[in-house]
Amino acid sequence: MPTPIGHSLAGYAAAKLTRVRVSRDDRVLFLYAGLLGILPDLLGLVLGVVAHVPVHGFSHSLVALVLVSTLLAGGATRSGFRFWPILLLVAAAYGSHLFADLLRPEPTAGAGEQLLWPLHVGYGLVHNILPHVPDRAGAGGTLAWLRIVGGLGVREILVLGPVAFAAHFIPPRISAR
Ligand SMILES: [Zn+2]
Repeated sequence: MPTPIGHSLAGYAAAKLTRVRVSRDDRVLFLYAGLLGILPDLLGLVLGVVAHVPVHGFSHSLVALVLVSTLLAGGATRSGFRFWPILLLVAAAYGSHLFADLLRPEPTAGAGEQLLWPLHVGYGLVHNILPHVPDRAGAGGTLAWLRIVGGLGVREILVLGPVAFAAHFIPPRISAR
């Protein structure tokens, strides 16, 4: 998985591509889409602790994408938002995470995103575009790990920063309210 920096940038770019307007202030969209961009990992970590399922299992599947998008869009209607624009927005930002996680080879055989959960098939690409964040033990200590994560964060900003910056100028067309 990329760092939260890469996932936030990808989430924002994907949300802008939907052309849904949630607020006149794009910082609001950046906040929500950024959080949605890291939500699969947060959900995966919580489910890992609570139910001992792999981080890249259910939370990184198309089933979760549909469920989370439907639940959040349904919840947003209670605050006066329209269902379909929010569904589109959430699906794009959440889906951007699943896509970004595919952009590197798997560090271990059999790992990878279980996009088709409950089938236990892991997916990942061969090209290392957004490299995997290693765990602390595998990196050889906290300092080495922080150095690696910092380097990956810079790489993600260089790869996804221009994409998010360009997406920023896409004018919204669909009102979420
Ligand atoms: Zn992930």
